[in-house]
Amino acid sequence: MPVEDSVSGNMESALGGAAARYNSALDMTLKALVSINVLKQDLKNNKQPFRDNLEEQVLPALQSLFTAVVSEEIKTEGVYSLILRYLLVSLEKVNSMPSDSAEVLVTILESWHCWRNSEGESLVNRLFTLEENERMNCRKCRRQPNYPDQSSYGIVIAADSIRNVKCAFGDIKFVDILKAIRMGYKMLCDIKTGGCGTTNVVHHVISRCPPIFIIVLEWEKSETEKEITETTKALEWEIDISRLFKGLEQNTNYRLVSMVGYSEEEGEHICMAYEKNRWINLRRESLAGEVVGSWESVVRFCGERKIRPEILFYEAAPSMMD
Ligand SMILES: [Zn+2]
Repeated sequence: MPVEDSVSGNMESALGGAAARYNSALDMTLKALVSINVLKQDLKNNKQPFRDNLEEQVLPALQSLFTAVVSEEIKTEGVYSLILRYLLVSLEKVNSMPSDSAEVLVTILESWHCWRNSEGESLVNRLFTLEENERMNCRKCRRQPNYPDQSSYGIVIAADSIRNVKCAFGDIKFVDILKAIRMGYKMLCDIKTGGCGTTNVVHHVISRCPPIFIIVLEWEKSETEKEITETTKALEWEIDISRLFKGLEQNTNYRLVSMVGYSEEEGEHICMAYEKNRWINLRRESLAGEVVGSWESVVRFCGERKIRPEILFYEAAPSMMD
């Protein structure tokens, strides 16, 4: 079935005479997601994807999106922008759409939970969900309280903390910056449950690596070009997440495949995607874009245009996918 048929058929009625609205966070976050190879592969492997009842308003739009990704017709000029508008109108009927990219990401992933494989497993859980356990071993009374597992779509880190650690240590890997920041999270040995009240370091344990690993950077307001450059310079396109979590083998490597950024001056988000060994800055409402080049060029680009990287999408490096 040609996608234009399904897309145009559904959309003319769905969109009706609605004025073209635009949400740059949705546009760029969606593009960053559909640039992830593991996600595209899973869409191809699960072509009859919807096994739950979903809000009726969103389902046809999601079906159009997923069909177009699988058939690659999403790259045809005009198809993506139509799907984007359709999805925006559909999502707005259920939720008010946020303008913050991290909130948009959660809205998108929550609306994808009806996407399940033949075993009934949520593919969002399998691809994106990080099951993390915090462990504390009290250095004074030796208590080891059990905390429940926490599910999330990745980790959230303050951009200024990244900058501060980078400036303090100079030559330090991005993943070690993240580790240092997270080591700063302390926990009290809880007196209420029989503990001694000592402050302890928390260890983060995961037993399973999600194929996609997301890092969200939280920014203050009005960072200078220098501050944005210093932060972006600290980011690396390959990270070994076994340095971040206990319970993993050494060299559990992930590579950055796409990124959502935000320009405060222009009030617009951007999406960078890694394609054919170079970075592309994707145009508004399109999956086409301009070549930016190497990761170093991306760092320069972000600094010069005061673009704050907000969401980093990493996927497991190929050697791990066997
Ligand atoms: Zn204690």
